[in-house]
Amino acid sequence: MKTIEYEIRDGALAWIKNPVSGVISYVVDVRGKSFAFTLGGRGELDPAASALSAEEIARTRAACPFCPGNETMAPAEILRVTPAEFPQWQGGGELSGAAPWVMRVFNNLFPRIPAELTGGRNESYIVVEDPRHFSSPHPHAAGDLMCTGALGEVHFLRLLETDVALMRRAMENRAVRSIVIRKNQGRESGASQPHLHQQLIGAPAALPALIAEAAAERRAPGLWEELLELVERLGLLIERRDGVVSFASPIGAFPRSYDVMMPQFRGTLAELEPERLRLFARAMCRILKVLGPLPLDYEIHQGEDLPLHAHINSRLYPYSAVAGTLNLPSALVQNVAALRRALQRHEEF
Ligand SMILES: [Zn+2]
Ligand SMILES: [Zn+2]
Repeated sequence: MKTIEYEIRDGALAWIKNPVSGVISYVVDVRGKSFAFTLGGRGELDPAASALSAEEIARTRAACPFCPGNETMAPAEILRVTPAEFPQWQGGGELSGAAPWVMRVFNNLFPRIPAELTGGRNESYIVVEDPRHFSSPHPHAAGDLMCTGALGEVHFLRLLETDVALMRRAMENRAVRSIVIRKNQGRESGASQPHLHQQLIGAPAALPALIAEAAAERRAPGLWEELLELVERLGLLIERRDGVVSFASPIGAFPRSYDVMMPQFRGTLAELEPERLRLFARAMCRILKVLGPLPLDYEIHQGEDLPLHAHINSRLYPYSAVAGTLNLPSALVQNVAALRRALQRHEEF
């Protein structure tokens, strides 16, 4: 049964309708389009830009509430991962300022959902992923930041394990029914702090994005299998191994969206056995590694009887949704082929 609406013309996808949101993505050739205006001012991507002075680096770190030494500038710590608990950590030394922690968790000063709705407890959390603010000892610009993709797969797994510990804590609150894990990297993605961090949000009810996905599947049983078949046929599959599939999504929220899915597992990260958590973390991290410091966001969707999955949106190019339509670059298939080649050079496990 075909439930996803799309049209193939001359062997290529012409358009496809997102069965969850109804948004139609039209495939267009944007190679001739200039993004100079929208991408202006990205000094950190200019290799010729001069390096920040030692004073500028020191000033930036001193003002950052997520940097080591500034712990009192952030809300009270809830949990931390120390270097002794994570001996594989590669980040000790000058860049991390000999920090006594690798990851740190505290409440978000600005809860996503008012505490009154979750039993009077703020269930929005910040996970600082690493003490290193900058990606190198000689950053070229304030935007030359440490990013998740540079941390590697072992570190990313440890981050998800920290999320699981935090999820268990949040679930002790009987008012919490659903948990989403969210990341914004870079100004263009709406990150309000430059220091790499992730958010975990406990909600009193299933979040609307998940309710919409679950409703779409009820309307069209077999939806995810059909999507995966289509993705494979269109040449958008990135990797499929050990029960985890990653692909460039033709129905993503942005023109360059990547999904990681465990089609056979319907549950939360906390219910995943350790080895399978590692496989999910690996697949996500491999895409984050290729995207590197580019602006991006990701969201891990879990529960509501949906297959566990993550949406990773590359945000370098401007959001171009117009009246429920989106444009997909016609070079997407070639981009995915290049991404697959890049991943073959990135074997870590
Ligand atoms: Zn910092
Ligand atoms: Zn989702």
